[in-house]
Amino acid sequence: MKKFEVPEHYRSTILGRIKEIRKLNDPRKKDHTPFVFQVGKTEIIIPRHFGFCYGVENAIEIAFRTVAENPGNRIFLLGEMIHNPQVNEDLLAEGIQFLVDNHGTRLVDFSTLSSKDIVITPAFGTTLEMAAELAQLGVQLERYNTTCPFVERVWKRSAELGNRGYTLVVHGKYLHEETRATFSHASDTGPVVVVRNMKEAELLAKYIRKELSAEQFEIDFANKYSKGFSVSRDLQKIGVVNQTTMLASETQEIAAYLRDIVVEMYGEEATTDTRDTLCYATNDNQNATLGVLESGAHLAVVVGGFNSSNTIQIATILGQNMPVYFVRNSDDLISNQKATVFNFSLLKEEEIVPSLLFAENLKLVVTSGASCPDKTVDLVIQKIMSLRGESESVETALEGRI
Ligand code: SF4
Repeated sequence: MKKFEVPEHYRSTILGRIKEIRKLNDPRKKDHTPFVFQVGKTEIIIPRHFGFCYGVENAIEIAFRTVAENPGNRIFLLGEMIHNPQVNEDLLAEGIQFLVDNHGTRLVDFSTLSSKDIVITPAFGTTLEMAAELAQLGVQLERYNTTCPFVERVWKRSAELGNRGYTLVVHGKYLHEETRATFSHASDTGPVVVVRNMKEAELLAKYIRKELSAEQFEIDFANKYSKGFSVSRDLQKIGVVNQTTMLASETQEIAAYLRDIVVEMYGEEATTDTRDTLCYATNDNQNATLGVLESGAHLAVVVGGFNSSNTIQIATILGQNMPVYFVRNSDDLISNQKATVFNFSLLKEEEIVPSLLFAENLKLVVTSGASCPDKTVDLVIQKIMSLRGESESVETALEGRI
């Protein structure tokens, strides 16, 4: 896989080396067992895959290169490039400005934009409507496009299915930038409806079975279906794709469930296999996370942006088997009396006493989302060791192993 130029301060020598060794020993990525090492009285369990994915490294490389190559130009980001606070702050520190926030609210007067301005499309992509509006203003979006190729693959498949008369069911969070972009692109060729989870898929099934009215559909799926969507016409042939950071197993469950319903109603031709659109990195990270569930760990520390969808999925998987502290960086582990964590069930930030970090012989999983630099994880490990009063360094503990 291509190697990207990302700022050195995002790399971690230790974690980079662990990843390299795992890759050398398991090039086909079949082994999901974690890397385990002991530092004093702490056993650290590192999943087989974690951290930056292809799309994130690609986006970071393009964004920093754009800054370096365009001194003196106004450079904007079409929203957060990725959902990691440090990376976004670093880009702002380079003079980049956000055009819109995560909710689509405009932060800059678009009428001031011109062909001289540079606008970087984030890894999630953007909507056709936004692209058209910026093109009208003379902005050349295609020159600084960091849309992940795996997101574009979903769009291509959506267009192909739309052209073949399928309705696209997008498993995603309707307000997430990527889902909004996929919705927009897919709507260009066919009808689209978004489902957030299995519960909404079950509700959609009632419409496929004609058990509920079109009027009720407008209420149940308000703002989640494309213009001109007809319940009686557009639920007879469906294909399921996802927001690439959703739980892949849930997407497959939803696809299998809806496939059975449409096949029962309209026969085998009513559905199609879309498993090839699932993102490899999401699969790898989620499978590797499953690979630590039986490790006997007492606690997991998950590192990533609190608005990072893929990090929330990782925390949710781990939460099935162990307590989880979800932090953005080492600064969130303030002291042995105080930590700021993200409660991923309630989707809110809270302050806790991180007492579980201080068990005598701690078995600890440490991992991160696809938009989190390895260095941030490295610093979190160092901070935990320091709070626990481990006198041995991580480097010494790993001597002879990496
Ligand atoms: S998670 Fe997958 S789709 Fe999303 S940016 Fe990374 S590689 Fe691309």
